[in-house]
Amino acid sequence: MPDQRAPQADVAALIPMVRRIVAARVQDGPTAEDLVQETLVRVLAAAPRVEPGMLESYAIVTARNVVASLWRERDRHRRNQHRVVDLLPEETHDDALMAREEQSAVVQALARLSQRERDTLLAHEVAGQDTRSLAGELGSTAGAVAAQLNRTRARMRVEYLLALERIEPPTDRCRPVLFAVSSGDRRRQREVDAGRHLLECDLCARLSHPLMERGQSRDDEVCIPIRSDADIVAARQAGRELAARLGFSRTELTLIATAVSEVSRNIVRFADSGEVVIELVDQPRQGVRVLARDTGPGIPDVEMALEDGFSTYNGLGLGLPGARRLMDEFAIVSEIGRGTTVTMTKWCGER
Ligand SMILES: [Zn+2]
Repeated sequence: MPDQRAPQADVAALIPMVRRIVAARVQDGPTAEDLVQETLVRVLAAAPRVEPGMLESYAIVTARNVVASLWRERDRHRRNQHRVVDLLPEETHDDALMAREEQSAVVQALARLSQRERDTLLAHEVAGQDTRSLAGELGSTAGAVAAQLNRTRARMRVEYLLALERIEPPTDRCRPVLFAVSSGDRRRQREVDAGRHLLECDLCARLSHPLMERGQSRDDEVCIPIRSDADIVAARQAGRELAARLGFSRTELTLIATAVSEVSRNIVRFADSGEVVIELVDQPRQGVRVLARDTGPGIPDVEMALEDGFSTYNGLGLGLPGARRLMDEFAIVSEIGRGTTVTMTKWCGER
């Protein structure tokens, strides 16, 4: 459905990929960031005119062209130091050829995904459909759809690189390792013994480098901005779904979700806005860590705020004392006028 805001959301989703393309070709950080921005400006301007389903390819081609024009510019400067006249034509045919190769790699990579993965990815990245409405259509939850999208993107990056280089991996272990590297899922990387494989396999070692570049989201961490009651629900769901990947019981999952809910509610009530970061940890053992921070007014007396029965909620919710009881570890740092940060952890297994 056409929507004025949709292209911006789509373009934002393309940023990690554009960064990767530029970073693979331009070493200098500030220059690379300039080129990423230049690419995004052009893609944003063109988005309403681009065929549905082709925005990603369009961004790839634009990034390549923006980088190529920088090289042409530098090359011309270099030549002009020696020659008086620049004899080369403005455009070369190489760019068009590269563009075709990259588009074809995108098409091949998409073809390696399942129909469901492909449909969901395109609906989200290109048509701008949000995870909540996708979840409604798929009979799933927003958190599960977001996690699935992360995995699909990770696979897409791997398949794209393989298609671009026209390479079929030499061993059966290559794809699982590359997927684990691409998704940034450290637990999965250990399961497939990625470190060892990367030492033994030249292809994976080489392809992993672009896969590990910055700008990619981690698969075992979610960050939810908290502004409204709807965000509290999203944070609670995300916490439960992330924790469910470990061996927590259903009861424990509910406790974790409730604790996430309480610290999120605290942000909405007292600070207007903040964020909740939920991550899986594995040191000293597996668990889930929740970090809730805001830039609100701060809590004058933290000790008192943590006493049972102390409640500025007027009986609504469990508050911070409740969240502390539900988790294994709980720490709070608050500074008047600066804000409050709560860190809490639930360990998996016996305590
Ligand atoms: Zn390999």
